[in-house]
Amino acid sequence: MSYQYVKEKLDNNSIVILDGGNGGELEQIGAKMDNDLWAGKCAIDDPDKLFQVHENYIKSGADVITSNTYAITPISMKEYGYEEFTQEWNKKTVSIALKAAASTDREIAVAGSVSTSGSWDKLTINEIKPGFTEQLRILSDAGVDLIILEAMTSKDETVESIIECSSKIDLPIWLSISCAMNNEKRKLMHGYQESVTNSKAQFYDYLENSLIKFSQIHKGPILIAHSDIKVTNDAVKILKRIHKGTVGAYPNNGYFQKPNWKLVDDISPSTYLEEAKLWVSNGAQIVGGCCGVGPEKIKAISVLK
Ligand SMILES: [Zn+2]
Repeated sequence: MSYQYVKEKLDNNSIVILDGGNGGELEQIGAKMDNDLWAGKCAIDDPDKLFQVHENYIKSGADVITSNTYAITPISMKEYGYEEFTQEWNKKTVSIALKAAASTDREIAVAGSVSTSGSWDKLTINEIKPGFTEQLRILSDAGVDLIILEAMTSKDETVESIIECSSKIDLPIWLSISCAMNNEKRKLMHGYQESVTNSKAQFYDYLENSLIKFSQIHKGPILIAHSDIKVTNDAVKILKRIHKGTVGAYPNNGYFQKPNWKLVDDISPSTYLEEAKLWVSNGAQIVGGCCGVGPEKIKAISVLK
């Protein structure tokens, strides 16, 4: 459990394998989904299943597993009346990931997911900063090896403020953002559309404009995440051109319809591997999967190591 192994791989231009989505996989193996916090309560309601998901990703070859803290941000916990449990549940959730990482002889790093899940966009920038700061501190104190800022589906200003809050934390920081294709403008946008065929799109600025801003204030790895597989390779190319640091990708498969992840347009693990080879050939060094991408696909791409 340390970041050293991951750092050495990145320094040696090797490929680092990230896990797949926790929420979608928890649902697949029958864990209870919460109407408000989606898979966020699993450490409390179904800790064995959460351990099993982490373990499955480790067995599939992941070098980095992610704490299932995406949906239990201070903002969402307050929104749904669980405010008093924010620290306890985040700590418990991290402890299950740490236990899974310690249960193998391989070196596994645990990433703490600090996210923008919840009604961040209804709040002012000054109102949201304490929430990011609080979750960063809780996860850091709980012993994660690195942080992934899962600022996916959030607009530029929100991403910039989560980066700003993370600059005060003494851990490696990765940043994930999502993107979608605006067919009218024929341009990739910062924004999201989980499934090109089944879900609505939300666009912000042009992807390249947003990436220029983010890469000026965030030097660590930037990853294209929670985006449709069909747009991911083009997004990686743009990201690699703009960002001087490490680049990565972990797209989703399907779309979210509260409180469930809907699998549509599913592809085979071997097709997922072919896509991942394209991201790697275009400069991605960290590859994994987001919602709807499970252990079989992670196992398929683990040959890229
Ligand atoms: Zn996702």
